[in-house]
Amino acid sequence: MQQNRLNFHPILYKENTNAFLDDVVPHEVSHLLVWALFGRVQPHGKEWQSIMIDVFGRKPDATHQFDVKRVTRSFLYQCNCDSHALSTRRHNNISKGAQYKCKKCNAVLRMA
Ligand SMILES: [Zn+2]
Ligand SMILES: [Zn+2]
Repeated sequence: MQQNRLNFHPILYKENTNAFLDDVVPHEVSHLLVWALFGRVQPHGKEWQSIMIDVFGRKPDATHQFDVKRVTRSFLYQCNCDSHALSTRRHNNISKGAQYKCKKCNAVLRMA
């Protein structure tokens, strides 16, 4: 925190890139912003919650323990070149008709 640096678990990141970017990054960046703007306050206090809402438009009810569960609770999709772990939110969007494409091969992701 003091160095304004974020360290993410590389394997978690690789296997859950989408869930990671959707859920964990806003959460952690909010912590950094709280640290920079307010200094030492409650880790998930009102400052952190207002950044989650104002900056990221996320529901600010997450704890770190809950983060790990959210990252783990992902859905496996495939394209033509790789497998992708999608967040529950994206999975729900897909079941409502949304399509996500692989950035590398440009194929529409399909449930594995
Ligand atoms: Zn947190
Ligand atoms: Zn691909």
